[in-house]
Amino acid sequence: MVVGSQAREVDLVVIGSGPGGYVAAIRAAELGRKVVIVERDYIGGVCLNVGCIPSKALINAGHKYHEQVHDLDTVMGVHSKGATLNWEETLKWKDEKVVKTLTGGVGMLLKKNKVEILRGEARFNDNQVLNVIDGDESHLLEFKSCIIATGSRPIEIPGFKFEGRVVNSTGALSLPEVPKHLVIIGGGVIGSELAGAYASLGAKVTILEGLPHILNGFDDEMIKVAVEEFKEYGIDIVTNARAKGSEQTADSVKVTYEVDGKEEVIEADYCLVSVGRRPNTDSIGLNNTDVKVNERGIIEVDNRQETSVSGIYAIGDIVPGPMLAHKASYEAKIAAANAAGEDELNCAVAIPAVAYCNPELATIGETPDSAKEKGIDVIVSKFPFAANGRAITMNATRGFVRLLTDKASHVVVGAQIAGPGASDLISEFALAIENGLTSEDISMTIHPHPTLGEAIMDTSELADGLPIHI
Ligand code: FAD
Ligand code: NAD
Repeated sequence: MVVGSQAREVDLVVIGSGPGGYVAAIRAAELGRKVVIVERDYIGGVCLNVGCIPSKALINAGHKYHEQVHDLDTVMGVHSKGATLNWEETLKWKDEKVVKTLTGGVGMLLKKNKVEILRGEARFNDNQVLNVIDGDESHLLEFKSCIIATGSRPIEIPGFKFEGRVVNSTGALSLPEVPKHLVIIGGGVIGSELAGAYASLGAKVTILEGLPHILNGFDDEMIKVAVEEFKEYGIDIVTNARAKGSEQTADSVKVTYEVDGKEEVIEADYCLVSVGRRPNTDSIGLNNTDVKVNERGIIEVDNRQETSVSGIYAIGDIVPGPMLAHKASYEAKIAAANAAGEDELNCAVAIPAVAYCNPELATIGETPDSAKEKGIDVIVSKFPFAANGRAITMNATRGFVRLLTDKASHVVVGAQIAGPGASDLISEFALAIENGLTSEDISMTIHPHPTLGEAIMDTSELADGLPIHI
């Protein structure tokens, strides 16, 4: 049934309610636009429902279980023998207490900002009209402005159809049981994070990675810290491995792969395929518009997040740059401001990236290699967590903070943290880089004691040539 063959006029329509779409909708409403947000699936997008949030919930549950079951705190005299895992309860907590709390919160924020939520799948009829299909119903919306935030989906590879015991990240976040043996194809961020989660929950994990190392995107020194921990968890990592096919039985899956020219078979109870994600731009009717899309399905945008069609903006996983929730939300604020008549430029200097391994890895801006490639003359200083008081009290001394400052001006140009709390600590460097701060600025900022954050101050003092604690 078509609900009204006449198109309804709307001010601003946002397609997709992930960390790109919902942030854009709220910001545009705050700036006075009348906003309709279209969502075909779940409010909160991949991030809140089947991405960042539920994966971190399982990672944290894994840490807690691993510590207790292996009685790791004995060094502090705390004994926790006899810990058990009730997987059903873990999944229920993840879904009902974590995901639902956050998606419910986003729904409330949208309502509070008077954003209309329209359920259905949006497709462009042309540069001005969207068709929103929800089952048998469809609505035509004629918009003044549109922000596309349709996100991405997992890539499927030949021989590994997502069904039964072969799962993508969404399936891996809700397995019916903790696998005895989990094979993971692709040791990128998703593969590595979920390898850590399931290994700590008691699974034997094998990662098959096509490249010479896992966690591509982080540098060798950082990867080494994660790999050391993976080995302690009993995770097997097979690099230069090309996955060829899978065969399922009632209770197992056999994965065939090639390494060093030799074919090998490995049997597991589940196989996670995490070989990257593809933008959701192929079935939204962009061919009916003048929006330019590159050969990989990425939408071209200018520094106002505007596409090649005036009044249509695009943000998040469907535009160039890393597929990260915080990048999507930043771009959302730029697009919403411009759609509301302001003139806001995307001028982010650097985007932080984190891998939630144990310990965490976080990077922003230049690394020693990238600085060398670009010919930037840098001071590189490195401070170990083993010399940080708080890390010692936490019995978490593995890893380091590394800072890169411009040799002439001492301005911070990059930083890497491998160690406890890296995901939170990296924001201090993000602030420094965005605001052109120097190592002296950080050194002379009073950091509370005892904190992991003092390691950032100590690294800056090293860069100044005036270290106290090393
Ligand atoms: P999405 O979150 O993908 O949202 C897009 C929304 O659009 C979806 O709800 C979809 O249903 C809807 N949609 C699509 N097409 C249509 C249509 N035609 N009509 C109506 N609605 C439509 N990033 C991080 O920064 N940190 C992390 O820790 C992290 N962990 C992750 C863990 C996993 C397992 C995965 C899979 C991803 C993770 N990511 C993480 C990546 C992050 O989830 C994405 O970068 C982020 O969700 C992108 O936001 P988005 O708004 O562009 O799109
Ligand atoms: P990825 O690009 O990070 O890693 C994919 C890995 O699979 C690569 O190492 C690649 O070499 C390998 N690979 C590809 N084809 C292969 C094959 N046939 N056999 C073996 N290995 C193969 O992709 P992902 O892990 O799927 O994650 C997708 C995106 O989601 C990431 O780019 C990231 O932006 C986002 N994400 C971010 C976080 C975070 O910020 N903490 C967490 C999860 C996901």
